[in-house]
Amino acid sequence: MSIPREFIDLLLSRIDLVDLINAQIPLRKKSGSNYFACCPFHQEKSASFSVSQPKQFYYCFSCGAHGNAIDFMIQHDHLNFPEAVEALARQVGMEVPSSGAPSSKNESLSELYDLTARAAHDYYEQMRQSERAIHYLKQRGISGTIAQQFMLGYAPSGWSHLLDTFGKTDPDKKKLLNCGLIIPKNEGGYYDRFRERVMFPIHDYRGRIIGFGGRVLDQGEPKYLNSPETPLFQKGHELYGLHQALKQHRQLARVIIVEGYMDVIALFQHGITYAVATLGTATSSHHLQRLFRYTAEIVFCFDGDNAGRTAAWRALLVTLPAMHDQLQIRFLFLPDGEDPDTLIRKEGRALFEKRMTSALSLSAFFFQTLSQQCDMSTVEGRARLAALALTHLKQLPAEIFQGMMLEELGKRARVDVQTLKQQLHPLNKPLTTEPAAVPVTASTPLPPPIRLALALLIQHPMLAQSIETTLPHNKLPGYDFLLALIDIIKSSPNPVTTGALIEHWRGQKEEPLLKKLAHAEHNIPETGIKNEFLGVIRQLIALSIDAEINHLLSKSAEDKLSPQEKRDLSVWISKKKALVY
Ligand SMILES: [Zn+2]
Repeated sequence: MSIPREFIDLLLSRIDLVDLINAQIPLRKKSGSNYFACCPFHQEKSASFSVSQPKQFYYCFSCGAHGNAIDFMIQHDHLNFPEAVEALARQVGMEVPSSGAPSSKNESLSELYDLTARAAHDYYEQMRQSERAIHYLKQRGISGTIAQQFMLGYAPSGWSHLLDTFGKTDPDKKKLLNCGLIIPKNEGGYYDRFRERVMFPIHDYRGRIIGFGGRVLDQGEPKYLNSPETPLFQKGHELYGLHQALKQHRQLARVIIVEGYMDVIALFQHGITYAVATLGTATSSHHLQRLFRYTAEIVFCFDGDNAGRTAAWRALLVTLPAMHDQLQIRFLFLPDGEDPDTLIRKEGRALFEKRMTSALSLSAFFFQTLSQQCDMSTVEGRARLAALALTHLKQLPAEIFQGMMLEELGKRARVDVQTLKQQLHPLNKPLTTEPAAVPVTASTPLPPPIRLALALLIQHPMLAQSIETTLPHNKLPGYDFLLALIDIIKSSPNPVTTGALIEHWRGQKEEPLLKKLAHAEHNIPETGIKNEFLGVIRQLIALSIDAEINHLLSKSAEDKLSPQEKRDLSVWISKKKALVY
């Protein structure tokens, strides 16, 4: 029986390796983000055992012991793999999915839905008894009707309100734990996850309560606390407010995606009853697929600052593959210091809706963002625009919209549309069929740029997010492996650490290489790492392009180029120029 990959990813994202090890071997902080101790795996007097918090990876400079949280449990507590996963899961209150009969699983799910509904009802009753909580809602300008529509509640202070109310027996406690409502204590027993917070029940689109968000009443951290992922609640799939919007409208003419619970509620109260919020995650393709079932127009709402623009661009990239001709997507950027909650109170529904209808279209935002990265007054700059845009436009389904985007690109880059159309597909195909991929191992001789890119990426996985283009094909040893790593990091819903990344290759031929690179010295100062990484990626792109050009040039020397290959050649040459520029 195998444990699902997603579960292990999620588990590792919830465990902190420093806490885990520190509970057994006292660690002391030494340099940067590394903690040190005497190595538990060999006898020594000086501390050569290091634990990196950001990497979630440990390494002994003397005996070479190394690994992630699962490895530590295996090596230190002498567990096998399933036992190590089980032990870690218990520490964070997760249940390892079993391969039990699906019918019994469904039964227990309905029990969990029943429990979240009862908890929401209890929180709602608590709200009505708490002057402080009622005062808070009034002061935020939330009407009684809206509070009722969204079933706003209150989790009272104290550590065991929910536990005392719904967790009288052990099976009941287990259900509370599975709903993410209580947390196990180290010394045994449990306590309430949500205390002294205004509670926002999160409904799925069918209206079942799957989780909660809780906001502190005044100061205090964290300001918002969400339910963890549970069998009922997957953050990357759910949208706050969708249920309430669907109750108001059978079909939604438009949906606006905002950031927070309070934004949804404030908009709703002021008549914009079609707002939804993602739950502490970026918009995912799952979110969009769900929304496109109910609406053909989506307005993404972001802050007007740089962070907002970056988030908007990410949302645009997620949207491209899901676009089709009937859809309309807009990007609304708010004035400085405003969020939908404050703005709608100031200017009301009509003005806010006017902002939406005049917000940037997807195409306008797309070309605006890319043009800013290119000097449009030069041929090289326009070639760069064409190359950048094409890598994204090929994500679009081949429909009218794609054709129109190409025409617009043609106008801006002053390139013939036919040329662009021809470049759209052949560009990223390999020129020759390749033998089946050979796994890279610790003994594979790797070209230096590949080795450096791999080492930096493994040690700082989030660097993958800084690569904005699709990397062209290349036959260098280890290159496909690099692409696979980038792909895993970019498609993960949680931030990926070194420890979590390596876990994907447990027991495979690549594992020793990954572990070796995880602690390879590269002598690049922390502040220069991103630039160094992007530099080496550019170098790899250049090598790919050179390989294509050389291949075509040698063919052309023998006068064997087809008309298509001639066009390819000129595109590769302009790509190369754009890169140098
Ligand atoms: Zn050691």
